[in-house]
Amino acid sequence: MSDATPGPATQPEATQQQDWTVRMVLDWTIAHLKQHGSESPRLDAEILLAHARGCQRIQLYTNYDTPLEPEQRAKMRELVKRRATLEPVAYLVGFREFFGLDFEVGPGVFIPRPDTETLVVTLLEVAKEMTSPETLRVLDVCTGTGCIPISVAANCPRAIVTAVELDENVVKMAQRNAEKNNVASRVRILQGNLFEPLSPDAQFEFIASNPPYVTDEEMDELQPDVRFHEPHLALRGGRDGLDIVRRLLAEAPSRLARGGVMLMEIAGEQAETVRQLYAETGQFEAADIAKDLGGRSRVVWARKKQ
Ligand code: GLN
Repeated sequence: MSDATPGPATQPEATQQQDWTVRMVLDWTIAHLKQHGSESPRLDAEILLAHARGCQRIQLYTNYDTPLEPEQRAKMRELVKRRATLEPVAYLVGFREFFGLDFEVGPGVFIPRPDTETLVVTLLEVAKEMTSPETLRVLDVCTGTGCIPISVAANCPRAIVTAVELDENVVKMAQRNAEKNNVASRVRILQGNLFEPLSPDAQFEFIASNPPYVTDEEMDELQPDVRFHEPHLALRGGRDGLDIVRRLLAEAPSRLARGGVMLMEIAGEQAETVRQLYAETGQFEAADIAKDLGGRSRVVWARKKQ
């Protein structure tokens, strides 16, 4: 029995294994995860226990005094052990909600953030106003789980989406996510580096990206959950964080159809610089900035000059 999990060492003398109730396991886990540096120990404990029991979180509270089955307890023990090393909860349960949809996630893939919903909302709003062409070709570069292209396809029936991802295993996961969310017929996932896997003449009404944009300096300051567990490929953007942003802006104009729109997620403090980078290409109308729910600048977008 590991000392990192509910076990004999922490149980009252006379208590049998099967006497560990939902309440006891929750209380124990919350204290344990707090001690190991989780910033959301109660939420973590609830999500993990619901997962171990195969129930909804709300059902923990309606079954507070129900003892755990031995298999549930064994499963919980493994989950808590991993969470105590600050492995992200999303990896432990294997999925993450984004834009009201379910996405498979796991070690090796960047976990979708609510911040990125700002990009999806902005794209959908601009798409709604674009009366022609009937079919909207959308490209998403650095797609990860596929959260951007899949949410766009699910909410915009006119969209035909292409997504590019460098990591082969992540490509497969994005493909499964498209199938799971019933948009696989309108979402094509390609493996490769940025624009490389596209056919030479492929053009788009929208190009979107949540590129890596964390600066070298900030990489060392990221929370341990992110820094030690999430893929640096999806995070590291070089000295000023904008290495990939510059490469995207260099090629995007030739890939955009007439009146096409480029949108990128960035960090708030990069917004003005990125707006300037758009301007320096000489190929875009003045860029707009969309803010996330926390009020920070999060998306810089602009229309290609006609
Ligand atoms: N906002 C992300 C984070 O630090 C970074 C995302 C990115 O580099 N694309 O969690």
